[in-house]
Amino acid sequence: MNPAKIARFRDSERYFICPICHETLHLDGASLRCPNRHTFDIAKQGYVNLAPAAKQSPFYNKASFENRARILEAGYYDDIRDAVLDAVGRYLNPRAAILDVGCGEGFYARAVQRANPAADVLAFDISKDSIQQAAREDATMAVRWFVGNLADLPVRDDAIDCILDVFSPVNAAEFHRVMKDDAIVIKVIPGVHHDEQLRELAREQLRNADYSNEHVIEQFREHFNVLDMRTVSRTFAMAADDVHTFAHMTPLLFNVDIDALDLAQISELTIEARIIVARK
Ligand SMILES: [Zn+2]
Repeated sequence: MNPAKIARFRDSERYFICPICHETLHLDGASLRCPNRHTFDIAKQGYVNLAPAAKQSPFYNKASFENRARILEAGYYDDIRDAVLDAVGRYLNPRAAILDVGCGEGFYARAVQRANPAADVLAFDISKDSIQQAAREDATMAVRWFVGNLADLPVRDDAIDCILDVFSPVNAAEFHRVMKDDAIVIKVIPGVHHDEQLRELAREQLRNADYSNEHVIEQFREHFNVLDMRTVSRTFAMAADDVHTFAHMTPLLFNVDIDALDLAQISELTIEARIIVARK
């Protein structure tokens, strides 16, 4: 295997614990191994599976991740990515340890690592397909990719300077456990106008077409001290095939029969997010 794909795991004892016995993991050849000899091989793409028993969500299969990757690379989420990079630049030192939770196909983790080459970026998802794709696309070969379980993170206590949570659930107890005392969370949630043209079209099928994120923010405030909140929003003219892809990948429409919608009515779509920075 390409040694550069393994090198990123050479200081694993700083960050990783065994998902079975919670002892420290060390790099041993092309594997991570704990003192009890539980062994996790580094895959040829450059990631390690630290949740071998994890089940994948049917909504996040390989095709949906490839679609997401295509949409992300097309630039619709560049404003959100830039806002994340701006928050990282303002609140963190260049050598910070940053953990991307539910990183999907790795769009944000790769961007953070590219912009902050001295940072230690760790990124995981429960989906092996997405992590494979994320690692394959990682030109920096520096992000420590792993398959992991948000409910039982294979990460040491007090090891992380920043949790990056982009459109992923919060596990406040696990976040607090792995965060250093002065660590921050950068959390991105959909804005109230996000995908509104699609939600309007699906109004009859949606229990609540008027999306609100207030309860998400309120819940988050119960566990973290919010320092900064901003909204990024842009409405894009959008080609029919991108509208089709969006309709199939947005979680806001997961329970909607997409084939029953007349997607031809949609020629533009609003992409909007709130970027929240908070302290432990
Ligand atoms: Zn172990």
